[in-house]
Amino acid sequence: MSHMGVRVESVLRKIESNPRFMRNVTFRHTIPAQKGVYEPIPAHLPPQLRQLLQRKGIAELYSHQAAAINAVESGADIVVVTPTASGKTLCYNLPVIKTLLEDEEARALYLFPTKALAQDQVAELMVWSEELGGRIKTYTYDGDTPGDARIAIRSAGSIVVTNPDMLHSGILPHHTKWMRLFENLKYVVIDELHIYRGVFGSHVANVLRRLARICQFYGAKPQFICTSATIANPKEHGETLLGRPVSVIDINGAPRGQKDILFYNPPVVNKPLGIRRSSLLEAEAVAHELIAAEIPTIVFTRSRLDTEVLVTYLRKSFHKLGQPHETIRAYRGGYLPKQRRQIERDLRAGKVLGVVSTNALELGIDIGTLQAAVLTGYPGTIASTWQQLGRAGRGHEPSLAVMVANSSPLNQFMIQNPTYFMDRGVEFARISPNNLYILVSHLKCAAFELPFVQGERFGEVDPTEILDYLTDQMILRKVDDRWYWMSENYPAVDISLRSASTENFAIIDTTDGQTRVIGEIDRFSAPMLIHEGAIYIHESVQYHIDQLDWDRQKAYARQVDVDYYTDANLDVELKVLDVFDKEEFPQVKRSWGEVMVVAKTHMYKKIKFYTHENIGWGNISLPEQELHTAAYWFSIPNENVATLDRGALQSALLGAAHLLGNIASLELMCEPSDLGVTAQIRSPFTGDPTVYIYEKYPGGVGFSEQLFAAHGRLLWRALSIIQKCPCPSGCPSCVGPVEEVGIEGKAHTSWFLKGVLNDGPQTQTAEAFAPTE
Ligand SMILES: [Zn+2]
Repeated sequence: MSHMGVRVESVLRKIESNPRFMRNVTFRHTIPAQKGVYEPIPAHLPPQLRQLLQRKGIAELYSHQAAAINAVESGADIVVVTPTASGKTLCYNLPVIKTLLEDEEARALYLFPTKALAQDQVAELMVWSEELGGRIKTYTYDGDTPGDARIAIRSAGSIVVTNPDMLHSGILPHHTKWMRLFENLKYVVIDELHIYRGVFGSHVANVLRRLARICQFYGAKPQFICTSATIANPKEHGETLLGRPVSVIDINGAPRGQKDILFYNPPVVNKPLGIRRSSLLEAEAVAHELIAAEIPTIVFTRSRLDTEVLVTYLRKSFHKLGQPHETIRAYRGGYLPKQRRQIERDLRAGKVLGVVSTNALELGIDIGTLQAAVLTGYPGTIASTWQQLGRAGRGHEPSLAVMVANSSPLNQFMIQNPTYFMDRGVEFARISPNNLYILVSHLKCAAFELPFVQGERFGEVDPTEILDYLTDQMILRKVDDRWYWMSENYPAVDISLRSASTENFAIIDTTDGQTRVIGEIDRFSAPMLIHEGAIYIHESVQYHIDQLDWDRQKAYARQVDVDYYTDANLDVELKVLDVFDKEEFPQVKRSWGEVMVVAKTHMYKKIKFYTHENIGWGNISLPEQELHTAAYWFSIPNENVATLDRGALQSALLGAAHLLGNIASLELMCEPSDLGVTAQIRSPFTGDPTVYIYEKYPGGVGFSEQLFAAHGRLLWRALSIIQKCPCPSGCPSCVGPVEEVGIEGKAHTSWFLKGVLNDGPQTQTAEAFAPTE
């Protein structure tokens, strides 16, 4: 075994011989090492390519690579589903380069979900091209591409590397300029297919429908080569997304070293309040142990703020040991591209021993060899957890992964039910490309690109009705059997594939009288993170936000050195606009429909480092943000809760909201951040105490309807978490902290949920709603 292997083994032995640590380990699992399965390099690859592989020291391929290349050769559209670091890029680069060597005019389009992945790939392709005498002209086309380079790419690029957002707003609407690409398009490569789920995936499916129309117009019939992390339904997902049949290749031939996985639940330090030790501090301790043993380690956190807090802690403790700051790095969205590329390079070069990251590094960006992963908090889905656990370990080397739970109900459920985690399997990737809101947006874009002809389908959809509606709205004009775009506007610029808003706020450092942009932040997060008085942390450097210019989307900051960070509270108001379906029973009424959510931040807290105590607060005065979306809600008639006083009712509703907000994502197998929850003690709409779960995306994507159907199971699960929680009166792991829900919060919430479950819809027995696992 190598030095690194010995180090990993010895840290693992040290951890395991520490009874104080092991007492809190709820799950210990070893994934055994596996030998590689190899196949000869396919004979149909041209000699130059075979020789190049040999020069690179590749004498054989992994079995999945050979299977992929042969499937493409036979004309199939494929999805390759294997873990990170299994050599997925060869699965598409070899067939594409083969075709480009044989046909100089041939073109390929590569789509990556992020710029970082795209740039990674271009760097790799440049090396290939150089080896092949400059024959493969590869270009990135994204928002950073300079104007003069764009013209060259359109005509000369054999491989155009871009992202779906750029395809949507920069390429498809200008397809006439891209004629050479579309006329000769032989392959579309889509990497990280699993990222295209939920709202983003539903948009991308429609962008691909538009791509299919344009290809058809230019007479091209490209083949699709896709790769994906493990999801429950790669075939179904690939087919829904691409709108065509796909073959799945999912038997991994790459070798792997042994991986040891530990789940760690921080001990309860305050029994009456049910408070556990901070997951950040516990994760820091584990990471410290690993980094001190010189094991390259990645630490994942659940938020940008946690990333900065944790990197600050780690740098401070290693600084004392004489380590320079550069050995510990932070990585997250909001850093400028140049800074991120630098961190990626330093990681690959082995200059960094510890990297603290949000899920931004969960994807396949090449960051070299890491041998340990520490997860601070459950990542939100089982699939994400496997991705993060899998970020450590390459080739034959052993690796170690530790997940440290925080005290939210979802984390506690997962850490205490490891069999659920192991048996349940990864989530399904779900998209709803026919969501009306999304579909209409893309029909507009498609009509702008090429007129629709009567009888033409858009994917599986007959668009006639929507096109007629758009004609009534004076957006389209119908002449004979064709619909033409007639509006002045150019539709794609107003439609963002990822979130409700495309506008980012710039953060400007004004220390020493200079002005320098240090980062950016999306509009929705701005009121929480860069309000005036906020401490904004950027690679562990603290900045005080002196001024936030809301209209110009700029925040002016100054470097400071303080012993606290800030955390803002978000207040949410919700108004029902329309009811799509409802069911009413004597004890509970439930519905789903259309709502307007208004979010506003009023105040922030100052929180001291390490002790995490509250040392002050401040006001925030910023405009409200509106979200028009879908929600599911249930209410309990006033007369049924007449025995509870107002305070008790308030605590029951807060408790129910806290719990349901956490576990609804479990039911939907979606990201917890896709949903919001709010409760009203006397809802203006129902007139009764009401709990709402809303979707954090304009128009919603069908989650509300699913929750409406799952109502009983959801409430049953909530009740069982309360009953199993060992705390006496409420804690962050069940109904929320006692300071928020009061000393009887647990009792009130439990009474309230039992009341709702007592009859509610149809077969109201607890067994009927018992979780099936
Ligand atoms: Zn509890």
